[in-house]
Amino acid sequence: MRGQGRSAVDTAPVVRKRTATLGGVSLRFYDTSARQVRDFTPLREGRASLYLCGATVQAPPHIGHIRSGVNFDILRRWLEYRGYRVTLCRNVTDIDDKIIDVATGEGVEWWEVAERNQRAFTSAYDILGCLPPTVEPRATGHVPEMIELMRRLIDRGHAYVSEDGSGDVYFDVRSFPGYGALSNQRIEQMRGAGDTEDDRRKHDPRDFALWKGARPGEPSWETPWGRGRPGWHLECSAMSTKYLGSSFDIHGGGLDLVFPHHENEVAQSKAAGDGFAQYWLHNGLLAVGGEKMSKSLGNSLLIPIMVRKVRPVELRYYLAQAHYRSIIDYSDESLHEAAAAYQRIEGFLVRACEVVGDVEPAAEVPDPFAAALDDDLGVSQALAVVHGQVREGNTAITEGAKERVAEAAGRVRAMTAVLGLDPLSDTWAASEGSGLRDVVDALVAVALDQRQAARGRKDYAAADAIRDRLLAAGVVVEDTPRGPRWELRRD
Ligand SMILES: [Zn+2]
Repeated sequence: MRGQGRSAVDTAPVVRKRTATLGGVSLRFYDTSARQVRDFTPLREGRASLYLCGATVQAPPHIGHIRSGVNFDILRRWLEYRGYRVTLCRNVTDIDDKIIDVATGEGVEWWEVAERNQRAFTSAYDILGCLPPTVEPRATGHVPEMIELMRRLIDRGHAYVSEDGSGDVYFDVRSFPGYGALSNQRIEQMRGAGDTEDDRRKHDPRDFALWKGARPGEPSWETPWGRGRPGWHLECSAMSTKYLGSSFDIHGGGLDLVFPHHENEVAQSKAAGDGFAQYWLHNGLLAVGGEKMSKSLGNSLLIPIMVRKVRPVELRYYLAQAHYRSIIDYSDESLHEAAAAYQRIEGFLVRACEVVGDVEPAAEVPDPFAAALDDDLGVSQALAVVHGQVREGNTAITEGAKERVAEAAGRVRAMTAVLGLDPLSDTWAASEGSGLRDVVDALVAVALDQRQAARGRKDYAAADAIRDRLLAAGVVVEDTPRGPRWELRRD
């Protein structure tokens, strides 16, 4: 029965060996800035610094938001597997026009809205098994760093204070020759930034706001140029360099952030004299029926709703399985297909443990799996290797080849662990409440004994009635050559 037969352990403790790739590096990523795949060479040997644009906490997250968290969680885990010490900084934008609008609409403080939604994001990341970032700075906690960055830009002639006394501070895009390089645009073809009430405050309509002068009834902070609040782009430049240094390895985010957000981050930081990000990685977006997520669609895909459709680990599998740069076109069918694919992996591991006892993850992942992830994080190809191994393992179970079963299971655990998807890991094995599971296991065993006894006396009506009552209680019984197994029913 599922959940049993995993106590007899004679597996030797595994010493994890990390493949050293720092010499003959094979890890490579598609760099949006270079518009090609580049070998990954970190600034500091053995270290990888990663900045990820996090949430603007105006609303709770839907799966489109969390996809980025899952994709970059896998990147972080793979870098760690490859022997890098990773520093991951993921910010929280806790002040923004939209947050203020929501607060005004609800008649509450802006920080109430920010706190509430930040908790919802943290909870969603946790539920989906994303490791917490090394640091998670909030914009409003970094106003001094932003003021200092503006000071440097003004001193170098790349930013100016609006002359109308509004307190706005703008970046002068024409002062920075590289403006448009990241998003591959020429400045003449760009539209105005559209981030001010009056473009006459600007030297050029494409100049963007570093700082927004205080407006009545809105939160503001003191600066040498008057009270106001941060512009979104400035926050990320200030926080990334504070925690990762003036130059760092990888900057990540959703593809929708390339312009203007990331273009403006580059302009601010490089114009101020910082080296900034060496690689730009962008995840694809999530669409529904081929359309970009609207607010109402997003509401139907909020994380608490989604984890009632499938288990959290199955949702993670769904978000992880497509290449991070591809568009995911959401449908319930594709979600359930992903859940079924995950269950094939899980089912194999559970059966394998029934046959050979507990199995620890192998010390190393198979080469084809590693090659797939080294090549711009090819998770779909990597999962194909996992499923190949699952098929081999299932064949070995049928043939009673215990050694091959144990080997396959060890490799499957090692590979799924790197993806944060190991069904037997503490994160997911405990997710159904392992203590409670044992109790249910024992109760179902009692019911199944009675069913067996009823069959023995050829009382098939009674045997079927027991099975139906279990089903009504949400327990699906499956008869297998090695006896009955049970699972919770999923609708
Ligand atoms: Zn950002």
